[in-house]
Amino acid sequence: MIVKDINIIGGGPAGLYAAFYAGMRDLNVRIIETQKTLGGKVHFYPEKLIWDVGGIPGIRGAKFIDQMIEQGLTFNPEVITNQKISKFKQTDGGLFVATSESGEQYLSKRIIVATGGGIFNPKKLPLQYNVKFEETNLHHHIYHLKDFKNKNVVIVGGGNSAIDWANDLIGVAKEVHLIHRNDTFKAHEYNARKLKESSVKIHTHTLVKELVPNSAGTSVQSIRVRNSQSDQDYFLELDELLVNIGFDNELNFHHDPSLKFKLKDDYYIEGSSIAQTSVKGVYAIGDILEFEGKVRLIAGAYNDAANAVNQIKLSLDPDAEEKARVSSHNNRFDKKNQEKKD
Ligand SMILES: Cc1cc2nc3c(=O)[nH]c(=O)nc-3n(C[C@H](O)[C@H](O)[C@H](O)COP(=O)(O)OP(=O)(O)OC[C@H]3O[C@@H](n4cnc5c(N)ncnc54)[C@H](O)[C@@H]3O)c2cc1C
Repeated sequence: MIVKDINIIGGGPAGLYAAFYAGMRDLNVRIIETQKTLGGKVHFYPEKLIWDVGGIPGIRGAKFIDQMIEQGLTFNPEVITNQKISKFKQTDGGLFVATSESGEQYLSKRIIVATGGGIFNPKKLPLQYNVKFEETNLHHHIYHLKDFKNKNVVIVGGGNSAIDWANDLIGVAKEVHLIHRNDTFKAHEYNARKLKESSVKIHTHTLVKELVPNSAGTSVQSIRVRNSQSDQDYFLELDELLVNIGFDNELNFHHDPSLKFKLKDDYYIEGSSIAQTSVKGVYAIGDILEFEGKVRLIAGAYNDAANAVNQIKLSLDPDAEEKARVSSHNNRFDKKNQEKKD
């Protein structure tokens, strides 16, 4: 088993930036991510514009993910996806072994916990249906609005996310229907009002009863819905079905009492402003970390990541410089600087 300097658990903004910064300090790392792709929570808002990351005015989430990944992989960290870390422990020799749910083990000298808001899995419709639909026209996220251009779209849900997407699809999709089980929308007032004044066809007190497949059985052709007040069923033809009925949040390894993390609000890992936790050798960064003055934004995650890596560097090599050299004066970029000149 290859021993890395750092196992970074979580491949969101914090984990990716930590991998980059660790490369600037000649530390070798492994990023372990439970989802199939890196990028973290930004996958929840791929079409939204992000304005508050320093030096990047107005960038769509999807493009930002690409850029974060490109930067995060600059120094070729090992990347493991589809592996959820479910526990870790320290060996007698002082190394850490992180173990995934499927039993894979990853050895490192230090650990950075970058697990953010946790593991969110979209809730599925409580119906029997062919899972193949999820590869064709049954979605739980929208990655590119343009994929919905001139389509008949049905959205199921009444929360912020469903309403945001309904509003965003106005003028893009041919027709948008919103199916909601009651008539209270849990959304920001402005967005709920915008929706009600828009062309979106709202079906309140309505439940989805059946997904009707196309003749090949590969996608959803229509849905049967029931108005719970009139008890009447009817069908809606569709091209795309978007289900936004919330997320299931899985408990994460840091809740294991044997690890002895100090937790705030039963979730966040309490640490110092330089990312140290109550467990020696384990650092926390990004949204999962709590300290006075914590900024729970991408910018704050970057600050935590640099602090954690600098602490780790010093703990492994007490003679090292306190911080990485700024990139403009760092010879690790010589080759890349040369390439950029062209
Ligand atoms: C709708 C929305 C809009 C936002 N807009 C902005 C904005 O405009 N500007 C801004 O600065 N911030 C914004 N944020 C906040 C920003 O997304 C977060 O601050 C940021 O994503 C935190 O990064 P992170 O890496 O700490 O956590 P996350 O992005 O949550 O990433 C954590 C990663 O760890 C993985 N993981 C968790 N547990 C495990 C495990 N046990 N094993 C392996 N992997 C694991 C998760 O799958 C995930 O990929 C927004 C958030 C939301 C929800």
